[in-house]
Amino acid sequence: MPPRSASSPALCPECGARGAPAPSVTIASLVRPEALAALATTEGFRFCASVECGTVYFHPETGETVARSGMRIRVGQKERGPDRTLCYCFGYKAGEVQGRAAAGEGSTILRDIGEKCARGLDRCPETNPRGACCLGEVKAAIEEARRRLAGSPSSNLPGHQDECPSPSRGSFPATPNWKRRKEERS
Ligand SMILES: [Zn+2]
Repeated sequence: MPPRSASSPALCPECGARGAPAPSVTIASLVRPEALAALATTEGFRFCASVECGTVYFHPETGETVARSGMRIRVGQKERGPDRTLCYCFGYKAGEVQGRAAAGEGSTILRDIGEKCARGLDRCPETNPRGACCLGEVKAAIEEARRRLAGSPSSNLPGHQDECPSPSRGSFPATPNWKRRKEERS
């Protein structure tokens, strides 16, 4: 194994998975106050998305970690059940998303989330332990439900955008990109 350097990927000390950078505001919002007070900093943490792994956040430089027990909320990414949360801003759980996707309503859910994000109602960095928009995870759950349906037509989910079309992100247009592309096609 090559020596770890600043440019090498930050790997979870418990499971070895590569962690995604978690914004400081996410740590400050979702870590329990007593665990938060023990941290040297809220900057520079990574989120471990492995379902099996008990570590939620780890810091590649300080070595500090935050376990599930140190979180104020249940971390859906660390669960498998139908009541695990997929969309933290608007409360969509995996069972509901997959059930509605199987009933052909997957696009309705994506439209609902996309429209609320476009109106600036989302607070992904403060609500989602990953610190980013849930759209990619919601789409994955919908596609999984569709794959489970034997003989179902191939995915026709709009676009490939996995992040909020939120005005709070700055440069996003008021109309979600996927919606815009759809309108241009028609
Ligand atoms: Zn891990």
